[in-house]
Amino acid sequence: MNVQFSYIVIPTALAGVLGILSSVLLWKRRLAKGSIPLALLFGSISIWSLAYTFEVIFTTYATKVFWLKFEYFGVVSLPVFWLLFCLRYADIHKPKIFKFFLIFSIIPVITLVLAWTNSYHHLIWHRVSLIELFGIKLLQLNYGTWFWIHVLYSHSLYLSGMYFLIRYYFKTPKNLRFQARYIIAAGLIPGISNIFYLGSSNPLSIIDFTSLSFAVSGILIVWILYYHRFLDIIPIARDTLIENMKDGIIVVDLQDRIVDINPAAETIINHSFKDVIGEPAEQILSEISDWISFSKESETPAKILNIGEGKNKKIYVLSFSPLSDAQDQLIGHTIVFHDNTESLILNNNLKDQADRLAVLYEIGKAITSTLEIDDLLDLIYKHLSQVISCDAYFVSLYLPEDHLLDIKLLIDQGKRYAPEKSSASEGLSSWIVKNRKPLLIQDLRKEINFLPVKPVMVGEKKLSRSWLGVPMQIEDDLIGLLAVASYQPNVFDEMDQLLLEQIAQQAVLSIQNARIHEEVSRQAKLDSLTGVSNHNHLIEQLYEDAEFALTAPTPLSLIMLDIDHFKLYNDTYGHVIGDQVLILTVQAIQSHIKKTDTVGRWGGEEFGVILPNTTISQAKLVANRIRHTLSELPLFDVEGKTIPKPTISQGIATLPDHTSDVDELVIIADRALYRAKNKGRDQVAIGKPAQTSQS
Ligand code: GH3
Ligand code: MG
Ligand code: MG
Repeated sequence: MNVQFSYIVIPTALAGVLGILSSVLLWKRRLAKGSIPLALLFGSISIWSLAYTFEVIFTTYATKVFWLKFEYFGVVSLPVFWLLFCLRYADIHKPKIFKFFLIFSIIPVITLVLAWTNSYHHLIWHRVSLIELFGIKLLQLNYGTWFWIHVLYSHSLYLSGMYFLIRYYFKTPKNLRFQARYIIAAGLIPGISNIFYLGSSNPLSIIDFTSLSFAVSGILIVWILYYHRFLDIIPIARDTLIENMKDGIIVVDLQDRIVDINPAAETIINHSFKDVIGEPAEQILSEISDWISFSKESETPAKILNIGEGKNKKIYVLSFSPLSDAQDQLIGHTIVFHDNTESLILNNNLKDQADRLAVLYEIGKAITSTLEIDDLLDLIYKHLSQVISCDAYFVSLYLPEDHLLDIKLLIDQGKRYAPEKSSASEGLSSWIVKNRKPLLIQDLRKEINFLPVKPVMVGEKKLSRSWLGVPMQIEDDLIGLLAVASYQPNVFDEMDQLLLEQIAQQAVLSIQNARIHEEVSRQAKLDSLTGVSNHNHLIEQLYEDAEFALTAPTPLSLIMLDIDHFKLYNDTYGHVIGDQVLILTVQAIQSHIKKTDTVGRWGGEEFGVILPNTTISQAKLVANRIRHTLSELPLFDVEGKTIPKPTISQGIATLPDHTSDVDELVIIADRALYRAKNKGRDQVAIGKPAQTSQS
């Protein structure tokens, strides 16, 4: 076979193989900037080195010339890729890749074509002859005209690349320069070697070490790039960090023009990058321009900025910091918008929770402080309004006998409405009455068609948007319900529901207590046998009504009523029948008096009837009607036999006709009663004014 071996192929073959490996490595892990052009550069190096190796190894002239021409794929492309690497490493991204190749590949392509067609024009090699040197066959080349154009062009690209590297070096901050320094040093190797090869008269100059020198240089560059990779990661990482971070960053120069803005800041200020770059910060950020001015002069505390409404509301904490270059020269400022919404919301939630607990505690305390239902409902509202802010509050008590809701408290937009009763079969409340469960409506307008019940408007007669109601119940007994409403949608959440339920639970116990208390005090005012007011309450009521009558002024009459010969009933028919007579007498009285009148048991078989707004003659009419009714009531003894009806004697005294004094009124009525007795009983006597009766 026409091959030979020489030690000079070892480095070139090595360079070729290493070139391929490096190229693959770089291509696979394109982390550092300039990796791709560097991988391409290694491709060129490999082609050049391997083709050169084959050129040496094969001994026939034709084969050698073939590989010589093949070398030119590497030879012409290498300077182009070198320049591309230098530009990309120096962060120059223009021209774009396609345009770059279009511009810089013209001469290399011509060179390549000329190399393969050399036998026709000899523009690359004037003469190619086979010689023997140190016992090996090599090609000796005499170069043609175009070759020198190619050399000039290749060196220009090489030197341009070096120029961009050096310029980049000086632009880089001092403490970050060392990577660029090594790369420049590595880049100088092929330059020096080429000068040596082209300019030397050394017999070794016949051996082309350019590809080898690029291989050495390239491997050094790979090592530098990978060894100091963090330098590339830092800017990439920083860019990624700034581009992807949630906090908005705006950079302004010393003239307060916006020079950079990250995507988060674009969203926050609702302006795009291209709209704000170069614009005065005070114009774009007018809302915070005062704060920016202050911050530049002195240390100003961070500013809180609220953007948006409702659920889209964001809270930013703004900080303003100086920006200096590597020489510590102030070059501008950064404004950071730190999104603090979540932590503030969390904070507010915790505060809300604490407030709610405090309210529950307060309600618990307040509730035990009163036994009056109306006061209690007022207290519940007072505390509730501190934690659940809404437009309307309702507290209703359920009246099971009538299936009604007694709306005890209704406050709509700060206005208190008179209590009213409404049907427990309609409205949103009816759902709670029926199901004994809380009802939370986020947006009534949207949900209205899907609700099993239709709302009924009370208070402002406006349809609420948010509605929350909870039952107040003791076990299965529904006592009433608490409800809140708002004219805004989505105001209440599950937390509010929970709070309202807890309040309802507390309230219901207190309402029950208050009801028991009310019943006990009502009972305490009544006579146990007849159910009418007892002596004490009758006197109290008389004083109250008399005072009102005297101030109004209106007349007020008092009837003193005594059953005639009552003792006889006891003695003849027993006390049970006696009691029966008392009860019948009360019924007779009650059938002739109004709601505003009061009947009370003065003692024994004696009753007092207070008739506000009643004249003497009207009172006399009432008294006679009672007398008449009593005579018609059915009365039987224990065996069921009819017994004689009781008769009654009555005395009437009237304010202010007879007196203006309450105690005297009683005396006058009493005297009139005795006059009736003395005149033969079963009759009505009108009182006489004090002085007359005394005379
Ligand atoms: P007069 O016509 O003069 O009023 O005669 P009277 O018998 O009605 O009057 P008197 O005061 O002598 O008798 C009242 C009686 O009423 C005495 C008492 O035993 C009886 N009495 C008082 N309270 C009750 C009661 O709650 N039930 C019953 N059965 N009797 C009562
Ligand atoms: Mg009597
Ligand atoms: Mg009596």
